[in-house]
Amino acid sequence: MTHAAQPTSATFPANVEAALGDATLRGALARATDLFGERRTAAIGAVPEWEALREQARAVKEHTLARLDFYLEQFVERVESSGMRVHWARDAKEACALVAEIARAAGAKRLVKSKSMTTEEIGLNAALERDGCEPVETDLGEWIIQLAGETPSHIIVPAIHKTKAQIAELFVDKLHIEKSDDVEVLTATARRILREHFAAADLGISGVNFGVAETGTILILENEGNARLTTSLPRAHVAVMGIEKVIPRFADLEVFLRLLPRSGTGQHLTSYQSLLTGPEPAEREGPRELHLVLLDNGRSELLQERVMRQTLACIRCGACLNACPVYRAIGGHAYGSVYPGPIGAILTPQLFGAEKAQHLPFASSLCGACRDVCPVKIDIPNVLLELRARLQTGAPIGGRTSPKKSGAFERLGWKVWAWSCAGPRRFALASRLGRVAASLGLLRFAPQLRAWGQTRAVPELARRSFREQWKADGR
Ligand code: SF4
Repeated sequence: MTHAAQPTSATFPANVEAALGDATLRGALARATDLFGERRTAAIGAVPEWEALREQARAVKEHTLARLDFYLEQFVERVESSGMRVHWARDAKEACALVAEIARAAGAKRLVKSKSMTTEEIGLNAALERDGCEPVETDLGEWIIQLAGETPSHIIVPAIHKTKAQIAELFVDKLHIEKSDDVEVLTATARRILREHFAAADLGISGVNFGVAETGTILILENEGNARLTTSLPRAHVAVMGIEKVIPRFADLEVFLRLLPRSGTGQHLTSYQSLLTGPEPAEREGPRELHLVLLDNGRSELLQERVMRQTLACIRCGACLNACPVYRAIGGHAYGSVYPGPIGAILTPQLFGAEKAQHLPFASSLCGACRDVCPVKIDIPNVLLELRARLQTGAPIGGRTSPKKSGAFERLGWKVWAWSCAGPRRFALASRLGRVAASLGLLRFAPQLRAWGQTRAVPELARRSFREQWKADGR
């Protein structure tokens, strides 16, 4: 199934305008993000040690990322000794080729998939379809957007942008069922069709929430039971995991299992937690073949720098999306990336290159709501500021060159500003010159002020400055 043309990060300003003009989208976003926000507040209110848990999670992630080579080696050794095969992928292309090769070797054409942002990141479905396979998403939200030929618009609620009425119409159009806006009818239809896919599938594909170095275990969290079916019914299973998902000890899971579901959906725990350590023995049911694809795709570049490295601590809970006033107004598709919202604004330029994603670090009011809700205390505003600074000067981002965003006029403006703020006389002179320029209407030719003034009233300069008034009043 091919994706309909989706907005890209490069066209972010136009995407925003289109999203802001879509009242249905804004209504769907407001209802869903409000609900998740309220549920999160209630869930964490029942955990007095919430802040201590966040500190602990942050410390575990910082420690692991600082020694990721060590923990990855330990993890791989334990995974392999459990009977699971490990494959390394430097980038998206290699990862897709590996999964396609595993499918080919297993003689698998019909594939079922559980929700995984990592497989979205590498464009796995499209690659498998090109290889003649038929991957079917089995998470309800993912299946809906697959039917619609779209990409996810939220990292844990892929179809957050769709209303019940839109989904009902989609089902009529694609599944040729009688129109119904009864949620039970719609979900029963989905269950019936997806069960047929599960029964026929030769290969299951999943993501991974956490990989435990101590035991070689992978953990997959979900609410619908589809990940469990994906990882247990087909005769072969391949899990795709970003290298940053490793944690040192099995006991560390306790911390993350308390944080992630509460932050994401306001649940105390997800309905299913599948812990997999190697294939099932011959006398038990389950896949005989287990593969793990470990994906770098730019992550090891992010490890090099302390400020940027924290981006990799993300556990993909989605809380920062729900809290962000920008995401809440425009939704995920406007970001033009599989990773939208505040985490997407810092991850996208670093993973996929700043050239096409240069607008995203500026899509924030820096209000700090994302940092406040993040269960692993990622200082997203700080990373945004670092990215903005690099974009101004053209400094590298994610190991790649970045475009220099500031023009000659802007650089001159900041130089004049720096000069005028270096002493009271200079400041007074600059204020007077500014007022003269404003009275002649020259300021409207400044490109930055023109852009600013498109959606806001540019404040007029006072006829007399505060300092002049103070002096005139004899103080
Ligand atoms: S950055 Fe933090 S809040 Fe946002 S998705 Fe990642 S873990 Fe959750």
